[in-house]
Amino acid sequence: MDGSPAALRCLDAGHAAERFTDEAVETVTSAEQKKVEQSIEEVINVYKQMHSSSQPTLMREQHYQYLKKGLRHLSDAYECLDASRPWLCFWILHSLELLEEPIPPAVASDVCQFLSRCQSPSGGFAGGPGQHAHLAPTYAAVNALCIIGTDEAYAVIDREKLLDFLWSVKQPNGSFVMHVGGEVDVRSAYCAASVASLTNIITTKLFEDTTNWILRCQNWEGGLSGVPGLEAHGGYTFCGTAALVILGKEHMLDLKALLRWVVSRQMRFEGGFQGRCNKLVDGCYSFWQAGLLPLLHRALFKEGELELSRQRWMFEQQALQEYILLCCQNPTGGLLDKPGKSRDFYHTCYCLSGLSVAQHFGNMDIHHETVLGKEENRLAPTHPVYNICPEKVAHALQHFLRLPVPNDSRRPGASADPEPSPPAEP
Ligand SMILES: [Zn+2]
Repeated sequence: MDGSPAALRCLDAGHAAERFTDEAVETVTSAEQKKVEQSIEEVINVYKQMHSSSQPTLMREQHYQYLKKGLRHLSDAYECLDASRPWLCFWILHSLELLEEPIPPAVASDVCQFLSRCQSPSGGFAGGPGQHAHLAPTYAAVNALCIIGTDEAYAVIDREKLLDFLWSVKQPNGSFVMHVGGEVDVRSAYCAASVASLTNIITTKLFEDTTNWILRCQNWEGGLSGVPGLEAHGGYTFCGTAALVILGKEHMLDLKALLRWVVSRQMRFEGGFQGRCNKLVDGCYSFWQAGLLPLLHRALFKEGELELSRQRWMFEQQALQEYILLCCQNPTGGLLDKPGKSRDFYHTCYCLSGLSVAQHFGNMDIHHETVLGKEENRLAPTHPVYNICPEKVAHALQHFLRLPVPNDSRRPGASADPEPSPPAEP
């Protein structure tokens, strides 16, 4: 490990100069921004008084206890997420793998059985048993099963039926609806490409025109919107870009405009990322935005940009770690959006995923770590396309590539020609 700073950036005398200035025009947005900066300054002041010389610590044990409890028993507060139960499995299991906490085999088996009850008889996964299949929980369920990574987990996925489901949500213009009769947005293209590539059911025909549809979501700002013509947004930008990486077409984006947009979303004072222009910092964008940098780095390198750093991503990795460790941890476990907000499993997963991206640079060939604080703060690396650990991606591909791609010939105008190979190592 190296690159550990002697001093925290937020304790530097020049840090205050990074504060937002409203140029004497106060608006609702500018007042909110100042309030957030004020709350972050208070957090930093408390930290200064308590730990003048030490580095921030990841509260591993507390996060572990919070996650462990969540996996067994979800409090009543999660009733509203009854249609997102595979998501809870994914958020918790991925957080645990980042913390390098093993999942007990009995728990893993229970999760497999639960997810198998969420699988729809007509293919794909629903938010809970007996509900309709939907692309978002399908993505979450497949990711959760790949994290478990046992034969029992892989066997849950009915690949034939999954392909049927993907065809049922494919639209003639190349986009996908989230569920039959549901809305179109770029998340669906990512969820479809992610599960199809991981389970080796990807075919050229299934993603015909999808690239062109996603490219239309990149707007004048440089980022991508949910559907063509709207405002660029971090979550949609990640989904669209990662989908294009899976389809091998990311070079068709305006990569430089995208780079400029995403790096401008890192907040100067807070160190974390905002989701859209003029919005407030939020811990979950630590992944949706910072996670774009590994994808862009690789894409630009492939395009011949050989001068790129071989040691770091193109964002302030230390500032993001400071934001997550100082401002996004609940002292009793779990992570959150920003000071004053409550913890939840979604923010726990994406704050930790973003922290991992900020700590690890590289791929299989090069690896360079920038871990802020003690070695115990180090998380496992995450795969920037699928957001599960890279070994789990490799293991799933190894398993599913041995199986034939289900026959696609019965789909409209389709031929059963599989993609040459899904990308294993971005
Ligand atoms: Zn958030």
